[in-house]
Amino acid sequence: MSSTRSITENAHDTGAPRVIRMDERDNVAIVANAGGLETGATFVSGFAAGLKLRDRVPQGHKVALVDIGEGEAVVRYGIAIGYAQKAIPAGSWVHERLLRMPAARSLEGLPIATVRSVSLPPLEGFSFEGFRNGDGSVGTRNILAITTTVQCVAGVVEFAVARIKAELLPRYPNVDDVVGLEHTYGCGVAIDAPDASIPIRTLRNISRNPNFGGEVMVVSLGCEKLQPERLLPPGTFAIRDDRGEPESSGFDLVRLQDEAHVGFASMIEAILATARVHLERLNGRRRETVPASALVVGVQCGGSDAFSGATANPAVGVCTDLLVRAGATVMFSETTEVRDGIDQLTARAASPEVAAAMIREMAWYDAYLGRGGTDRSANTTPGNKQGGLANIVEKAMGSIVKSGSAPISGVLSPGERLRDKGIASGLVYAATPASDFICGTLQLAAGMNVHVFTTGRGTPYGLAEVPVVKVATNTALARRWHDLMDLNAGRIADGTATIEETGWELFRFVLDVASGRRTWAEQHHLANALVLFNPAPVT
Ligand code: CA
Repeated sequence: MSSTRSITENAHDTGAPRVIRMDERDNVAIVANAGGLETGATFVSGFAAGLKLRDRVPQGHKVALVDIGEGEAVVRYGIAIGYAQKAIPAGSWVHERLLRMPAARSLEGLPIATVRSVSLPPLEGFSFEGFRNGDGSVGTRNILAITTTVQCVAGVVEFAVARIKAELLPRYPNVDDVVGLEHTYGCGVAIDAPDASIPIRTLRNISRNPNFGGEVMVVSLGCEKLQPERLLPPGTFAIRDDRGEPESSGFDLVRLQDEAHVGFASMIEAILATARVHLERLNGRRRETVPASALVVGVQCGGSDAFSGATANPAVGVCTDLLVRAGATVMFSETTEVRDGIDQLTARAASPEVAAAMIREMAWYDAYLGRGGTDRSANTTPGNKQGGLANIVEKAMGSIVKSGSAPISGVLSPGERLRDKGIASGLVYAATPASDFICGTLQLAAGMNVHVFTTGRGTPYGLAEVPVVKVATNTALARRWHDLMDLNAGRIADGTATIEETGWELFRFVLDVASGRRTWAEQHHLANALVLFNPAPVT
């Protein structure tokens, strides 16, 4: 779809009316001008030449390029994003109330691996400075993570982490941070329900994230349902063996209910003493030059507007292709945001098995939403709509472009880990909800070492465990949040940078961040909570 994307030409710097069309089949385009366009505004050049606005159209919102009859398809990204509830004359504002949303594409009869994948040419010569792990994975940060089995211990761990940061961390200059992996799971849950495997493996796999260097310490309460041996069964860790040390039980445990602990201070001292051992080892690590293929990038969007799918997400798509060409692994996710493009995705599957796995994930999620009496249309937010996104179909088309053009070579179920599936490169669909925090948490579990996040409305989202590169979809946001947004893809709408240039800029920025350059969110220490996806019952 990218080949036919066009901005009205020769109008960039004059303040003249500008619209962005995503596909030449589209009968709508979005207004690019900051502040929107007034009634009577007339386009003087390009595909919209001669068009005169009948309404005031806000920035990012759609204008009808031609007369659209009642019941006719409103086409963006070359597909019907809705059907006109009444006749829409050319030049009208096509707001969400004018559209009837199409039904979700059936999961029967989908095109399977039909796109003849021309494999993208390899991209050589790109590297970053990372922390090598014994299992071949590479960290982009050197962090001591304290795994917890249950929410009951969260306050104690938070207290201990503050002490470790204040008293121990200054003595270990090569360690970037200490993070308590706090969560709300672990007890009061139906731990043997089939779907409980999702939160449990998510926690297990997060503790194995490459940024933690295989140093695992666990704080447990004692009486909780999620016992440490269940969370981290023997053999979970193979990551530490680069230093030739035995795996032993694989982790160190502090159990607060142990009789040895008399009083609070004893618990804290035990956690600090255990932390010291791990900090010592982590402090011995150094960054070294590794190929770009060691990157595991999770891409996500949140707080989206109509520019998300026109500027930032297409630039991410270019970056995704570059990363895949360099041998890296890129995960895209957000099931409710790809559901409406499932036919494009099964067509892009590298094999029938991959397509079948994608369909399985979509069907599971349809059933999950159905049990809750809802469907994928529950995804869109009031802010999405104010930003010009009429419905989930339009949002989905703009979300999928983050995946670029490579064949989809693997699929992960929620909470699964790439390495357990033998995946070390290529474009992967990691099935997650679209919820920003849950998606990020599940991508962490998969083994992500850099997160790329696009936003149009703006969100200060960040993670303590991996750097989050934030890309603004529009220049107004990039200016207003100048010390929160790492990259401005709004220049694509302004006409001052191309999608390809911005994609390359993001690719280089990701390599810099992987090498230790701190994102804005890291500089401000902005981090959101881990939020587990628990589709199983609570007791
Ligand atoms: Ca999201």
